[in-house]
Amino acid sequence: MKSIIVVGSGVAGAVLARQLLANGDVQITMFEAGPDFPPGNRRIWLDLLVGNDRIYEPFVDDPREENEYFGLRGSRLFMTGGTTNHWGGLTPRFKPEDFELRSRTGYGVDWPIDYDDLAPYYAQAEILLGVTGDSDNDDPPRYGARYPFPATAFTLGDRVVIDALESHGISYGHMSIARAGNRCITTGTCDYCPVNARYTALFDLAQLQIEYGDKLTLRTESPVTRILMDGKNRTRGVEFLDLRTGAPGSMEAEAVIVCAGTFESCKLLLASTSEDWPVGIGNDSDHVGRHLIGHPVFFAAGVRPGNPDKIASELGFDSLISRHFDSPEYQHKGKMWFSGSAGMTTSLEEQIISNVSRPEMNASLTSELMVSLGGEMEQFESPENRVTLGRGTTRHGLPMTDIHVGVHEINLQTRQEHVQTFVEILKTAGCREDSIETGALNPDGAHASATCRMSRSDANGVVDPNLRVHGTDNLYVCSNAVFPSIAAANPTLTLAALAVRLGEYLV
Ligand SMILES: Cc1cc2nc3c(=O)[nH]c(=O)nc-3n(C[C@H](O)[C@H](O)[C@H](O)COP(=O)(O)OP(=O)(O)OC[C@H]3O[C@@H](n4cnc5c(N)ncnc54)[C@H](O)[C@@H]3O)c2cc1C
Ligand code: SF4
Repeated sequence: MKSIIVVGSGVAGAVLARQLLANGDVQITMFEAGPDFPPGNRRIWLDLLVGNDRIYEPFVDDPREENEYFGLRGSRLFMTGGTTNHWGGLTPRFKPEDFELRSRTGYGVDWPIDYDDLAPYYAQAEILLGVTGDSDNDDPPRYGARYPFPATAFTLGDRVVIDALESHGISYGHMSIARAGNRCITTGTCDYCPVNARYTALFDLAQLQIEYGDKLTLRTESPVTRILMDGKNRTRGVEFLDLRTGAPGSMEAEAVIVCAGTFESCKLLLASTSEDWPVGIGNDSDHVGRHLIGHPVFFAAGVRPGNPDKIASELGFDSLISRHFDSPEYQHKGKMWFSGSAGMTTSLEEQIISNVSRPEMNASLTSELMVSLGGEMEQFESPENRVTLGRGTTRHGLPMTDIHVGVHEINLQTRQEHVQTFVEILKTAGCREDSIETGALNPDGAHASATCRMSRSDANGVVDPNLRVHGTDNLYVCSNAVFPSIAAANPTLTLAALAVRLGEYLV
């Protein structure tokens, strides 16, 4: 039986563990810095239902770790199941051109693998995450693979946006989303789904523990502080801290897989210095921590007078996506996808809680309609983008995070163009011009990527195409950190596909 240490219990760790346990004779110990959390707990769900949406506050990033152009802003969660506990579950695939950024635009680098290498693993990841989607939409190509659940139907609110998109000749389709379609009962408390329709690694791990018993040991409140090496090439295990007792400990294994997210994965390599690796493991050519990128986001909303059809928000998630600008023609400017829908300006739930009378509710429902659009775009990196070890320690006993980033001029220009496109769509949807408000945010930790990027040789990256740290035999990184570029699409399906692929490679 092969002993494997997995650092981090997010979706990367959970999908990888499932793949290893299902196909190999392995004993996995998973270290998690944060505490455990109960899945499917009625009390927590009721809290969320009555408007207490702070259930994850104790687990968010250390507030000291901020940067003006790349704030973490409470994006990551340190707890069993990691950040998927509050993710949106949007799961578009990357497109073929996303793997060829350098060749097609002159920016960044190409991936050392291509879309076709990942296509079969995308299909497996869609099944593991319970993704709903339109199996007949072949952009990007599906090669016959069916989603496990059919697409969520467009809502009446989506139709308002669709009419405007059609007037502009902008293409659209069904959002693919990890929401096990036939189980989703649309209560809208998606941040803690009562029936586990929205995928979380928390629930996935609970099931794995039932299925595989003591072949999987989860050690919570046990941050890994250092990777131990035997000479230059072989890892022999890890050092960790037991946060309950404050005592340090160590553990040996035949392989170590770092699934600690984009920031902590590179920091762990940087912190593990030795005579053989004086500036961190895999860092002889100074790529560990560099190339940090994420997704700038932007949005616009406006009010249309009159709502005779009494359209209200129906779902707690997006069911429409336009990837019109997420295409090869726009790649050199920064691709983007967006979603949108229409609903009431004040939700029915808020009005009920505020004791608004029925006639008043009816009047506000029929008087106007709010139309909203939101999108994310591909970020190009600036040369100074880098994560380094900060001074002092976080509450998990891990080094603080220093983030250095520049702003890429093309991203700023294109973001303005995309926002202007939103404004035109809203005007076509009938929104009053003076009601339209727009906004934009710099990237945060949510989709941060590329700090341990994948490359053919150690001259320009940190891990090889099988995610093994260059120059080592048995140390791997499985995280958005290994993406050489971020594309426009959300990252997690691509991460899950890489985890499935790594699991297959290892057993
Ligand atoms: C609000 C929000 C919404 C999002 N929505 C979407 C979406 O709709 N679609 C999408 O594709 N993506 C989305 N994302 C991104 C998605 O959540 C991440 O891509 C994904 O969770 C990354 O998974 P991971 O396993 O790599 O990292 P994480 O989920 O962050 O897990 C890493 C785990 O490692 C633990 N850890 C860290 N360091 C150590 C250490 N040294 N020792 C032990 N344990 C450690 C952490 O506590 C954490 O539990 C969203 C993110 C946010 C914040
Ligand atoms: S809408 Fe679906 S995913 Fe959200 S809480 Fe309800 S059942 Fe769960």
